[in-house]
Amino acid sequence: WMQELAGHLAHTLRTLRAQRGWSLTQAAEYTGVSKAMLGQIERGESSPTVATLWKIATGFNVAFSAFLEASPAQQQATLHRYGDLPVYDQDNADMRVVPLFPYDRQLGFDMFVIDLAPGALSESSPHEPGVIEHVIVISGRLELAIDGEWHSLAAGEAMRFQADRPHAYRNASSQTVRIHDLIHYPQS
Ligand code: MN
Repeated sequence: WMQELAGHLAHTLRTLRAQRGWSLTQAAEYTGVSKAMLGQIERGESSPTVATLWKIATGFNVAFSAFLEASPAQQQATLHRYGDLPVYDQDNADMRVVPLFPYDRQLGFDMFVIDLAPGALSESSPHEPGVIEHVIVISGRLELAIDGEWHSLAAGEAMRFQADRPHAYRNASSQTVRIHDLIHYPQS
């Protein structure tokens, strides 16, 4: 993601500077960002901070969003059916994890439909710092442990938690439990 963004930034900055007919020295003057830094960005060698990007946008008098690439998923409404995308854990009969949407790099989230068979227990090791899960029970009753504390969620109930700690999903009932799991990753 950062690699693509750097490429997009480089292209956008080069294009803007050519349109204005500015030298690097002039661009540095108008933006307050050093020539060296501007050069690095134009060569795709640097991922500037948000503050630096704002200076450049302001100096060139363009919107901040001019530097951000819109993801195709956002531009067009797309119908996603359950089972359209490759399934994970297919060999694990107790738990089935099916992505509903492809990973969205810009929004930084995954969304899964998860089915837990009766008696299923799935323990998840801590994810990266900053990862947040949103668990929504669609049908059945889910037991959800966060940091060793168990919660019981009925259909229609949901829980949002910091997933950078141990957590587990359990189906203590005699019927299959279906949940949606929306996982948000912090932008790196
Ligand atoms: Mn997890």
